[in-house]
Amino acid sequence: MGGGVRDLLLKMQPKDFDVATDATPEEVRALFKNSRIIGRRFRLVHIRFGRDIIEVATFRAHDEDSPKTELDRHGRILRDNTFGEIEEDAMRRDFTVNALYYDIHDYSVLDYVGGLKDIEARQLRLIGDAATRYQEDPVRMLRAVRFAAKLDFSIEASAASAIYEYGHLLAVIPPARMFDEMIKLFHSGKAVRVFELLREYQLLKHLVPALDEWLQENPNESMLDFIDQALVNTDDRVNTGQSVSPGFIFAILLWPVVQQQATRMQPDRQKMIGALAQVGETVMKRQVRHVSIPRRFSQMARDIWTSQPRFHRTQGKQPLRLLAYPVFRAAYDFMCIQAMVGLFPHRLSHWWTDFQSQHEVVAEPVRKKSPRPRRRPRRNAG
Ligand code: ATP
Ligand code: MG
Repeated sequence: MGGGVRDLLLKMQPKDFDVATDATPEEVRALFKNSRIIGRRFRLVHIRFGRDIIEVATFRAHDEDSPKTELDRHGRILRDNTFGEIEEDAMRRDFTVNALYYDIHDYSVLDYVGGLKDIEARQLRLIGDAATRYQEDPVRMLRAVRFAAKLDFSIEASAASAIYEYGHLLAVIPPARMFDEMIKLFHSGKAVRVFELLREYQLLKHLVPALDEWLQENPNESMLDFIDQALVNTDDRVNTGQSVSPGFIFAILLWPVVQQQATRMQPDRQKMIGALAQVGETVMKRQVRHVSIPRRFSQMARDIWTSQPRFHRTQGKQPLRLLAYPVFRAAYDFMCIQAMVGLFPHRLSHWWTDFQSQHEVVAEPVRKKSPRPRRRPRRNAG
């Protein structure tokens, strides 16, 4: 059910299948030895089959009066464990196209909310009143954007216009959940479209406020090209099965801001590394208040930024030292994207491409024990 049935009907490869049942989590747990109950907000059972985990949810009803449903003062659902009938379960899903069930008894598709019609029309329609559904869970606005990009669907008019009105509710979402959603958005293989839609629906300011402000004030063509090109690369990587780090995504999205502030603070290119480190820290501090970024990823973004000026140095021992940085590969890709849009000299990007192929970058674990400790300007420690 859920996304699995939708993707099959659209002839897309489903990421996973969610199973829904009228058995309670305890009953499912008792049936499968290799299972466990997870979740507080929504209780689910995970059943392990070898390396796969099948997620099994009990049909739920949305019942505001039930002691098992908790709302906060904005109408947001905090907990929802009232079990119900399949029809009720369908009603509490977000979009009609996400509420289709595949019945294993007779291989039919069960549609209680007009999801098949909306698949036909290629549109995302919220089940029920748009304002209420966004108030219950503001993350649904981000999900609308994600599915619109992923499925190449339109967002039905009332669901779309309510986003402008209720987007601000995203401020109440815990930053950790915002991070999860942010990663789903930008690792979808459709990041270019996602970015476009986030801007169109004025949601970017809730995810990356500094970038949103930069865009309002002084969008400069080549920097916009940079973001676009970087997201094109990201999508290519995702669609060809290569990994993309959240650190790289944040490095991309905050670069216009970091670069601008660092240049204002320190026009002397020789001293740019220190400026980037300082600005990078401040910009990150603000960012994590909205979207919490695990330390290793925010550190990676900052290392990518401070590495950029080092690509100007091709003399002496410095290039080899840079090559030994754990973040080298990502920083190099980042620099190449800058070169592609004219923000970095082509001559130098070619030099680095040759240089690293001559020195054959070996697998990372081998480089971890680098004999020389990593050097950083002392000023930027922490
Ligand atoms: P994906 O292909 O990204 O996995 P999906 O539709 O399966 O897409 P999930 O986030 O895996 O999305 O959620 C599974 C199902 O649970 C959805 O199809 C939807 O029916 C329901 N669901 C998930 N999140 C919400 C939400 N915030 N509000 C209402 N229903 C939701
Ligand atoms: Mg899913």
